[in-house]
Amino acid sequence: MLKSYINGTWVAGEGEGTPLMNPTTGVEFARASTQGLDFSSALQYAREKGGPALRAMTFAERGAMLQKMAESLHARREELLALGTQSCGNTRGDAKFDVDGGISTLSAYARMGEELGDGKFFVDGDPIRLSRSPRFVGRHVQLPLTGAAIHINAYNFPVWGFAEKAAVSLLAGVPVVTKPATSTAALTVRAVECLVEDGILPDGAISLIAGSPGDLLNHCTGQDVVAFTGSASTAARIRATPSVLEKSVRVNVEADSLNAAVLGPDIKPGSPVWDLFLAEVARDMTQKAGQKCTAIRRIFVPEEHLETIKVALADEMDRNAVGNPEVRGVRVGPLASAPQLEDVQKGIIELLTCCELVHGVQGPGELREITEGQGYFHAPVLLCALDPHAATAVHEREVFGPVSTLMPYSGEAQDAIDLVRKGEGGLVTSVYSNDRDFAEAMMFGIGPFHGRLNFASAKVAEHSMGPGTVLPSLAHGGPGRAGGGEELGGLRGLSLYLQRTAIQGDDPMLTQMITSGTSQNS
Ligand code: NAP
Repeated sequence: MLKSYINGTWVAGEGEGTPLMNPTTGVEFARASTQGLDFSSALQYAREKGGPALRAMTFAERGAMLQKMAESLHARREELLALGTQSCGNTRGDAKFDVDGGISTLSAYARMGEELGDGKFFVDGDPIRLSRSPRFVGRHVQLPLTGAAIHINAYNFPVWGFAEKAAVSLLAGVPVVTKPATSTAALTVRAVECLVEDGILPDGAISLIAGSPGDLLNHCTGQDVVAFTGSASTAARIRATPSVLEKSVRVNVEADSLNAAVLGPDIKPGSPVWDLFLAEVARDMTQKAGQKCTAIRRIFVPEEHLETIKVALADEMDRNAVGNPEVRGVRVGPLASAPQLEDVQKGIIELLTCCELVHGVQGPGELREITEGQGYFHAPVLLCALDPHAATAVHEREVFGPVSTLMPYSGEAQDAIDLVRKGEGGLVTSVYSNDRDFAEAMMFGIGPFHGRLNFASAKVAEHSMGPGTVLPSLAHGGPGRAGGGEELGGLRGLSLYLQRTAIQGDDPMLTQMITSGTSQNS
């Protein structure tokens, strides 16, 4: 049975628990239960022990702690990568994307802490004169909340998801209670075990819930924060939790997204940007078997290129062998769980009501070193909707697997804008164009609908990392369907865990109050 880490100790839940399966074999390898665990006292422990200890540390000290966390995980990197394969069905490349992404995000926030130095909170902006007397002024400070940061994560990034949220709240000075998705929790449990073994964090600064959330959210106070990543339906339930509503608990939501890629009308077949577009679309469809919140789900190309792109993308897809993720050369592993596979199968059927199948099959397809019927595999599938304005399902249904839909547009920016907007808010859309007017029209047209836009042009083609990589320095999140949240973005991300308080009074007195423990954030 996986253990939770609460009240400074490892504890197993009662009962039979939920089985966790190896997605490649479908064989159970662990169980998780939180039955009988006292979440009220777990949260109180974090608030009373972890919070004060973190708030007493300077930003530089918190940053040094984050760097030790990164080093602790890095020291067990091979073990974590192997566990990513066993517990999540990751190929080695997919496991690196998760584990290395988590480590590098911790290091990035460690550097920010070092740069902030000896401050413990932020002063936001300059003094504002409030009356005729120059002594009577107003200031703004951003102080760490005194509650706990409850981090509820999706199943697809057990290390990165945990680390990217933890890095930001720990740097802000707020203790973490992390709850990975049950199906892939084993990897997060091991990562937290490493940090506990190495004695890096003050008592109460980190807690882990391995299994169902139970009544966790019923114990929230107005000083706690809930940062959630997962489906829109779970987000809606979390937001509607009575304690969350009654106590105005801050909730940040990172949810579904029908991310798009738009090929500009200026891009000619065989050009560097054309090739980049094909490579990035194919990689995004298949990396982590398409279980990436930032994966390209909708592909818009000028109608004159539709047939050529169908063939070219099919060729790219054929380069990705599907099968046992432990086998060299396999690029696409299984989906993470049986319910996930079922959801993908259902989603494809829904999309086929308005699409045709261009490439791939409904089912596992040809698999390397997998016995028939074994594991949770699905072949990568490329669909095409010839009437994209009428293809409602494509703009509404996120199929969280190796599935994308190709669609023609007129070549006019406004047509692409109208189509992309049908996703009603996304995490990221990529625009492949060298035409600055087209790019500018896209920025104004779809920017307000997204948390991030990725402009891929010839000048930066060789540096492109594609839309799928979420960087600690850039904001991650999106409006509308994507949940309306925002994470990361360098120091911007800390705001979720800080209270901006206006203080007004005698200037020298305020100055003395804020001088010790200040870092400027303006
Ligand atoms: P999910 O079913 O919504 O679960 C997400 C998390 O919520 C899990 O830890 C789950 O725990 C927990 N949960 C479920 N019911 C809850 C409740 N009533 N109260 C509190 N927590 C609850 O999502 P998923 O299947 O893991 O992830 C796939 C979805 O996540 C996709 O839609 C994808 O787009 C989205 N996603 C978004 C981002 C982003 O950054 N925007 C990143 C990754 C994934 P249990 O597992 O124990 O049920």
